[in-house]
Amino acid sequence: MTVGVLGLQGAVREHVKSLGRLGIAVRVVKSSADLDGLSALILPGGESTAISLLGENGVFERLRRLASDGVPMFGTCAGMILLARDVEGREAAHIGAIDIGVARNASGRQVHSFETTLSIDGVGEDVPAVFIRAPYITRIGDGVRILARHDGVPVMALAGRILVASFHPELTDDLRVHRYFVETVSGLRREGDRG
Ligand code: GLN
Repeated sequence: MTVGVLGLQGAVREHVKSLGRLGIAVRVVKSSADLDGLSALILPGGESTAISLLGENGVFERLRRLASDGVPMFGTCAGMILLARDVEGREAAHIGAIDIGVARNASGRQVHSFETTLSIDGVGEDVPAVFIRAPYITRIGDGVRILARHDGVPVMALAGRILVASFHPELTDDLRVHRYFVETVSGLRREGDRG
């Protein structure tokens, strides 16, 4: 069982480290071929335009197919923008695997970078979350569950096996969000786990 981290740009190392601390084998994905045989994939934060431009022809096409085949994916910040169906100001989605609308670098409080704690459904209380020029979720489609809000605004959502967060859990020492993605959303067990 190997979990991939899309490694084109952004907070790649930090996700690799969080997964490693959970005892999970990780592969940094730079091309379509690196996607072969992954059990799940994390799309990190960074700059969604840069990430989409760096993706060699075919990577996003392949990601779209994997998502519809049910491969679990977790997009944080820019990764959430890549997974969203509607991105304000763009004609087409990047991957479009979850029926939400997002606005990049949204105005209001989230435009600033800040750290807070969140109550996250299924994850726990007082979960530390770092927001960096965070995108807003502006629309929630049918079948999408909001897992957390900040100041009333949805900041984490789940639909099937696609998880998205406006914030960066990988920039904290708390592993609960990564564990939730791997164990609960993806249904994976770590090597050596019994049962
Ligand atoms: N604002 C960035 C974008 O539009 C996302 C910020 C982040 O990932 N920290 O891609």
